[in-house]
Amino acid sequence: MIVGDGLVVGNSIYLKVFLMSDASVEKSELVVVGGGPGGYPAAFDAADRGMNVTLVNDEKIPGGVCLHRGCIPSKALLHVAKLIDETHESVEWGVEFGAPKIDLDQLRTWKGSVVEKLTGGIAELCRARGVKLIQARGSFLDSTTLKLDATGNSEIPAQLKFQHAIVATGSSPVVPPIFSIGDPRVIDSTGALNLEDVPERLLVVGGGYIGLEMGFVYASLGSAVTVVEMTSGLLPGADRDLVRPLRKRLDDKFQAIHLNAKVQSLTAKKNGIEAEIEGEGVEPKQTFDRVLIAVGRRPNSQNLGLENTRVQLDERGFIKVNSRMQTDDPSIMAIGDIAGEPMLAHKATREAKVAVESLAGEPAAFDNQAIPAVVFTDPELAWCGLTETEAKKSKREIAVSRFPWAASGRAQTLGRTEGLTKLIFDPKTERVLGMGIVGPGAGELIGEAVVAVETAAVARDLAESIHAHPTLSETIMESAEGFLGHATHVYRPKRAK
Ligand code: NAD
Repeated sequence: MIVGDGLVVGNSIYLKVFLMSDASVEKSELVVVGGGPGGYPAAFDAADRGMNVTLVNDEKIPGGVCLHRGCIPSKALLHVAKLIDETHESVEWGVEFGAPKIDLDQLRTWKGSVVEKLTGGIAELCRARGVKLIQARGSFLDSTTLKLDATGNSEIPAQLKFQHAIVATGSSPVVPPIFSIGDPRVIDSTGALNLEDVPERLLVVGGGYIGLEMGFVYASLGSAVTVVEMTSGLLPGADRDLVRPLRKRLDDKFQAIHLNAKVQSLTAKKNGIEAEIEGEGVEPKQTFDRVLIAVGRRPNSQNLGLENTRVQLDERGFIKVNSRMQTDDPSIMAIGDIAGEPMLAHKATREAKVAVESLAGEPAAFDNQAIPAVVFTDPELAWCGLTETEAKKSKREIAVSRFPWAASGRAQTLGRTEGLTKLIFDPKTERVLGMGIVGPGAGELIGEAVVAVETAAVARDLAESIHAHPTLSETIMESAEGFLGHATHVYRPKRAK
C-alpha cells in the first residue's frame, strides 16, 4: 500500500498519546463528518500528510450517496439501458437480436456487486491509511466537540473532541409536501435505483439530471415514461444547442414530455397513482404505476448542531465558505454539496483537496474555472467553463464555433451523427473559455476541455494538437479549426467582402 509502515506505526503511537482516559470521549486532530466523495478524499489526503484523522459516517462503509445510491449504481443501469437500445438500433446495420429478456434480480445483483467492489476498496484504503472510521451520526455540541450517535453500539464513544472538523454531509432529495402521500409507489432517486419492478407507466416529476437519467433507464427497460417539467425546457441549466439532439431522441423514447407543466396533486388509487397535471394541452388526470420525484436536492445541514458553532448558513441551507473552504467558525471547514452548488461529486473531491491543503497552511484556494457537468443519458451532454447563456447574461463578448458530428468519421461509424461539439472563445485572445458537447461519450471528451480552460489554452493549441483518427476527440480539434476559419470537414463559403 501507499502508506509506509513507519507512518502507520507513527500514527498509532500518536493515537495512544492523543486518546483521553475518559472512555466516552475520544480525541482526534481532524474529524471529517460524512464519508462521500468529499469526505473520504479529505480524510485520506489528511492522513497521507500525517494527520490523526477520524472519519465519522452514518453508514458502515464510506462512499456516500454517489457510490451507494447515486452516480455509480445509476451509471451501471444506464450502461445496461444503452446496451438494450443498441440492440434495437443494430437492425439498421443488418444485425437483429430478439427482444431482451430482463432478469431484474440479476440486474440488481450486478449493480450491487459494482457498488460493493468500490465501497469495499474504500474501506480497505481507510484501514491502510490508518484513518479511524466511526459509524455514527455526528452533531456539533460546540466548535470543538462532536456528539456521536451510534444507536445500540456501546463501543462507540459518546463524544469526540477535535482540533479541526471538515463537514461533508452532502445533500438529500427534495420531496415537496404535496408529493409526500405515504405511498411506496411514489419514489425518489434511491427508490428508482432499487429497481423493484419495471412499472408499465412511470411518471417522472422534474426534467433535470435525475429525472432524465432514471427516466432513460426505465424507458429502455420497457416503461412508458411521462416527464413533467415545470420550466420551458428539459435540463434548464444546460445549453439549448446541446439539449436539442437529446430532446429529439427522448421524443421517440418517452411516452410524453410536458414542459411548462406542474403536477398539482398525487392520489393513491387501487390501480395506480392518479396525478393531477396542469399544463397546456395536457390530459389533466392521468394514472401511473409509479411516480419518481426528481425536483432537486437540498443540503444536509439540518440536525447537525451547527447552531452550537459559529458556522453560518445561507438562505438555501448551504454552509457559507470562503475559497479556502473555511466557514465562519475557525475550527470548522465545509466541502461538497453542503458547501454550495453545483452539487457534483467531482466538485466535492476538489474541495476536499483544497480544504486539506488550507489546513496544512498551504496557499490553496478553490479557484477552478471549469467544473464539468455531465448528463449520462444517450446521447450524453457535457459542458464546462463559460456557456453562451452566461456570456450573454454578463454581456461578455465571445466567439462560438460549432462542429456538427455529421462531419465526423467516427460518429458516422457509430451511426450517431446527431452530436455537436461547441467551443466558446475569447475573440481577442483566442483563449478557450468553455465547451459543450452532446453525443455518445461526451462525458469522457469533456476532460480535454477542462484542461484547455484551466491551462488557458488558445484555439491553436487545440487545432494544432494531433487528435487520433478516427475518434470523436477530432471534433474538438475541428471545432477549434472552425474558429480559426478552416475546419477540414466543414466548408463555410467566405462572406463577400
Ligand atoms: P435538477 O435540479 O437537476 O432538476 C430538477 C428539475 O425539476 C428541474 O428541471 C426543475 O425545473 C424541475 N422541477 C422542480 N420542481 C418541479 C415541480 N414541482 N414540478 C415539475 N418540475 C419541477 O435536480 P435533480 O434531477 O433532482 O438532481 C439533483 C442534483 O443531483 C443535480 O442538481 C445534480 O447536482 C445532482 N446529480 C448529478 C448527476 C450527474 O452529474 N450526472 C446525476 C444526478 C444528480
